[in-house]
Amino acid sequence: MIKFALAGNPNCGKTTLFNSLTGSTAHVGNWPGVTVDKKEGVYKKCAEPISIVDLPGIYSLSPYTPEEVISRNYILDEKPDCIINIIDATNLERNLYLTTQIMEIDVPIVIALNMMDAVEKNGDKIDPAKLEEKIGLPVVAISALKENGLDALMQRAYEVSKQTRAGSTVMSASPVMHLIRDCKIALEGQKVDNALFHAIKLVELDEIEVQMHPDSAKMVEEFKQTFEDDTFGSDFEAIVADSRYKYISKNYSTVVVKNKNGERERISRSDRADRVLTHKIWGIPIFLLILFAIFHLTFSENFLFIGYGLPEGWTSLDGTVAAGLFGEGGIAAPGVFLQNLLGLATDAITNGIRTAMENGAVAQWATGFICDGILGGLFSVLSFLPQILLLFLFFSILEDSGYMARVAFILDRIFRKFGLSGRAFMPMIMGFGCSVPAIVNTRTLADQNERTATLRVIPFFSCGAKLPILTAVAGGILSLANINNADIITYSMYLLGIVVAICAILLMRHTTMKGDVPPFIMELPAYHAPQFKNLMLHLWDKLKHFIKKAFTIILVSTIVIWFFSHFSWNWHYLPDAEMNNSILANLGQLIQPLFTPLGFGSQLGAFGWVFAVAAITGLIAKENVIATFGTLAACVVSGFVADEAMKGVDAIQALIGATGVGIPALISFIAFNLLTIPCFAAVATARAESPSKSSFRWTLLFWVATSYIVGSMIYLIGSWWWTLFIFLVVWAAVIALIVLDNKGIIHIGEFFGKLKRKLKRTKSE
Ligand code: GDP
Ligand code: MG
Repeated sequence: MIKFALAGNPNCGKTTLFNSLTGSTAHVGNWPGVTVDKKEGVYKKCAEPISIVDLPGIYSLSPYTPEEVISRNYILDEKPDCIINIIDATNLERNLYLTTQIMEIDVPIVIALNMMDAVEKNGDKIDPAKLEEKIGLPVVAISALKENGLDALMQRAYEVSKQTRAGSTVMSASPVMHLIRDCKIALEGQKVDNALFHAIKLVELDEIEVQMHPDSAKMVEEFKQTFEDDTFGSDFEAIVADSRYKYISKNYSTVVVKNKNGERERISRSDRADRVLTHKIWGIPIFLLILFAIFHLTFSENFLFIGYGLPEGWTSLDGTVAAGLFGEGGIAAPGVFLQNLLGLATDAITNGIRTAMENGAVAQWATGFICDGILGGLFSVLSFLPQILLLFLFFSILEDSGYMARVAFILDRIFRKFGLSGRAFMPMIMGFGCSVPAIVNTRTLADQNERTATLRVIPFFSCGAKLPILTAVAGGILSLANINNADIITYSMYLLGIVVAICAILLMRHTTMKGDVPPFIMELPAYHAPQFKNLMLHLWDKLKHFIKKAFTIILVSTIVIWFFSHFSWNWHYLPDAEMNNSILANLGQLIQPLFTPLGFGSQLGAFGWVFAVAAITGLIAKENVIATFGTLAACVVSGFVADEAMKGVDAIQALIGATGVGIPALISFIAFNLLTIPCFAAVATARAESPSKSSFRWTLLFWVATSYIVGSMIYLIGSWWWTLFIFLVVWAAVIALIVLDNKGIIHIGEFFGKLKRKLKRTKSE
């Protein structure tokens, strides 16, 4: 099959085009660096099927970060039949810089002049025919978003892919041109492909190139001694870049006719927005406020806090749709309302099946297995689907509008002083969706130590799968504290994750993961209204992923959990009330003491092991924590009160009743699950992205230690407030030691280094 590659600057619409051409649903986001790996799809509307490859965005073919290397290597090594060079027409000159490099390769090229809808809307004019004539490459105007001109583009690309093309350069007037020519001839003598391209990169003394052709590099070095340019001395990289820019500004400024008034107005509008949203002092509070509004809309049972003003008796509408809207504390926020509706439906299903099975005289264990085991577990997770989707809708809107990129910018300004770059916040923010792509996205960071440190804290940004834990346990906390604002608790837990992440990464950057802070060169994407299509794609992806997981991993886990909680070691079926003698219970009781410092260990007595087991099952998938509660709830209830009226009570309520677990322990339980080793998929990704095996082992240890330390701090301080002073003293001492060590006054690092070498020596002896 013939292959076309999509290449272009970050955020110019490659993935949007890729999705439109191939019908895929790859992630599109309004910030540079979303696509970090190549993706393939098939376009079928030409004479033959064409494989399309979406590549990570690049500003030039001299790469700095691993994902840029992917793009360069693909273009050079895989020899696509045609490169579709996508250009953001609203930023023509800057985008052409990459084009002047791609055209040096011996490959057919078509330029896709994208975002023409935006150009038109701005009142600007670009003449594609004129551009084509000047640049000597076919140019097709398109809008990837509105799907205009795509067939014409593909037709054109298909035609040129059947021809051969020799690389060309815009630098014929450059002072280094004859050096380039000499290098090219030398390389051709060695039968190197794409000789022109490699020759120019050699003259630029591009790192990869110098390693590949050391002989020719020597030639360039020798020549360099004799060379002295007026403005740049003998900095060949600068000379080459300068000739490219000069050529572009000289030739292409006439292609664009800008609507000057419109442009001024647009810039001033965006500036005005930025003046508020990225304000030095107000930027962060505004971000926190927006975040709170989102949580309020998703989780509040007391929408807009008007519940406090409602007369009593509003709420006697049990079991109806209206009851879903008017909860106990006031009016339900949209997220809660949808959740309540779904709850009515799933309850009806479970009850229907239960009644049918009981009437049909099916064995009691089978009824329990189906209704409490499978349905109890599945539905307890599924019930959070509306809130998960709604939260994602809001996050997608923030991302697509261009706001999330601004958040990275604000955070960069504050944390740069402490050794963190704003670029590192992009993968972290991505972690709100799912840790797996977020961890892969750390490839966009240039510094290896920063990459490792970022990778480690990404799971602390609570992902969709952790949401059920937060919400369900928050429900328990609310009932104990006698308030009804779940939004405040979920919001605080998200913030806790962010704060721990920032503290942890700061600690690492000043101890084991030191390194320079690379300059933050991400451009801020233009604000635009969120695209309905993008939003729906995001949600659809999430929904598919969730359903698939529910009916595979979570379903299997609930079955296993139910099975081991209803059989004893000699394989006798145990009724609900005797569950505490089951295999699972015994295993759980064994590890239960491990969690005593965190508040949900031995002090919880007979049913405390349920918490321990739930935390462990969460290592497979985080949804399992709540699925485990759901599966075991009925048993806990019958073991605890043996009261039919308690059937159907919320799993967390049942556990609170049975174990007497308190608020500090519940918060510590959330924190532990939030911060500990993430799900299996995230662990596997972290392993693949780690620079070495030992680094990965430290990562695992880091997760266990962080969750354990933070969990026990919460429990201890929450239960005995004066322990706060002990922790303050300990942390102050730790920070003081680190500062002194970094200033060179004491030498802890050296001490550990010596210790390590000594240990190694004794081991080898
Ligand atoms: P990539 O980084 O090159 O893969 O770019 P994406 O496909 O992720 O798109 C970046 C942003 O540009 C998204 O917000 C898209 O909605 C937007 N976008 C892409 N193509 C067009 C277009 O033709 N017109 C307009 N107005 N916006 C577009
Ligand atoms: Mg992309």
